[in-house]
Amino acid sequence: MAARPPVAFLPSPQPHWVGDGFHVVPLFADLAFREEVSPFLMLDYAAPVEFPPRETPPGVGAHPHRGFETVTIVYHGEIEHRDSAGNSGTIGPGDVQWMTAGSGLLHEEFHSREQTKRGGLVSMAQLWVNLPAKDKSAAPAYQTILNAQIPTVDLGAGNRLRVVAGAYGDAKGPARTFSDLHVWDVDLKAGADVVLPIAAGDNVMVAHFSGTLHVAAQDLPQPGLLMFGPEGEGIALQAKSDVKLLVLAGKPLGEPISHYGPFVMNTEAEIKQAIADFRAGKMGRPDYFDA
Ligand code: MN
Repeated sequence: MAARPPVAFLPSPQPHWVGDGFHVVPLFADLAFREEVSPFLMLDYAAPVEFPPRETPPGVGAHPHRGFETVTIVYHGEIEHRDSAGNSGTIGPGDVQWMTAGSGLLHEEFHSREQTKRGGLVSMAQLWVNLPAKDKSAAPAYQTILNAQIPTVDLGAGNRLRVVAGAYGDAKGPARTFSDLHVWDVDLKAGADVVLPIAAGDNVMVAHFSGTLHVAAQDLPQPGLLMFGPEGEGIALQAKSDVKLLVLAGKPLGEPISHYGPFVMNTEAEIKQAIADFRAGKMGRPDYFDA
């Protein structure tokens, strides 16, 4: 059986700061919010940055979201979340926050207070996952997924794959999702030569964070995003040095996308409604956090 051919490699766009806490590259580049990457919307990757100790936590204060989910995966350091639905959580290396904005909420994302005081490396990825039209008005929800809850699949020769969402063989990811998708956190060792199975009809992207990935006779620079074509039984990956990847696969939703800043809906009218509802305080109020 033939593996899917890689069809594009998107090199890393310029990084930008999200608040003063996260120095990210938007790895989906111009494909963000397009059908080619559905049901995923965009992926910000913050490579490891050393933060000096300080008093006030770096990060981003209260802001709204509606119509999709934000998934935060921590690689180094510790991150805190609070939202207007009353949920909060602190996650560290290997942990994941899976937040369903659904009908809308406000939240804030900062380095944890402990992390801020001691300083040190912070590195994370934030993935935006679209919601099917019928679920965009779902009640906001929040899942803390700890490292220990995430099953690890041994791919042999020291290579491993953690199933955050969806499944790999018999291993099922703990995340509750609204559409058929897989999120795999993959570490390959130098010399790895693996084929990962991908279901027919799924879009598949591989975010390449570190190390030298060797695909279709090319050494790929990192960070970057590798796209694969629709035909074939899986994706073939080789590593020349230890490599860190995030593999995203899922059934495209096949629904129109209208997006503006922190809102992702199906139509422009729904975006206007989201802005009006946010301004009217219907997604919560920033002073929620002072209560
Ligand atoms: Mn946010």
